[in-house]
Amino acid sequence: MPAPSARFLVVLDADSTLIRNEVIELLADEAGRGAEVAAATEAAMRGEVDFATSLRSRVSVLAGVPTSAFARVLARIEPTPGVRELIAAAHARGGRVGVVSGGFHEILDAVATDLGVDIWRANRLVTDSETLTGTVDGAIVDAGAKEAALREWAAESGVPIARTIAIGDGANDLRMMAAAGLGLAFNAKPTVRAQADLVIERVDLREVIPLLP
Ligand SMILES: [Mg+2]
Repeated sequence: MPAPSARFLVVLDADSTLIRNEVIELLADEAGRGAEVAAATEAAMRGEVDFATSLRSRVSVLAGVPTSAFARVLARIEPTPGVRELIAAAHARGGRVGVVSGGFHEILDAVATDLGVDIWRANRLVTDSETLTGTVDGAIVDAGAKEAALREWAAESGVPIARTIAIGDGANDLRMMAAAGLGLAFNAKPTVRAQADLVIERVDLREVIPLLP
């Protein structure tokens, strides 16, 4: 079924943008290795290491975590202030809202549904007998995949790329931010702030509403 046409498209990163958390860190807590994975995630978001290589290494820490941990992780997710207002405002003005994440469908599916996001894409964790194997299924959603999702969703929504907004905090968001009509650094790392069209200073997504086309 073709997607409905939209007036504009907003694409958000998930971890530290749509939500306050980094889901990989919450999952690693379940393996007792949260601090170590948090440090590795920080380096990846600053752009110091290859994202896909780093993600595979961080996910390997999750081997043996039971899928029952997903419910505990979900309970710890904190939506970013203003996210519901931003999504409602985008919809009221005829916009479509997407989320593309280097995190995981296993958590994002419930969060995106709850927040009223129209479309989303993330990595999938491999499980065996209700236990994480510590591997990712298929190609990693990295910076290139984020840009591809933005372009694909804009095309299928009949939205010219000039009428897209991409919002992110990490180095893996830079390609989609550069491709979008407007690239917004939100709660962002210094390298991301330096390359964005605009920097949102307050951690409140309502700041984006006046920028909607
Ligand atoms: Mg992020």
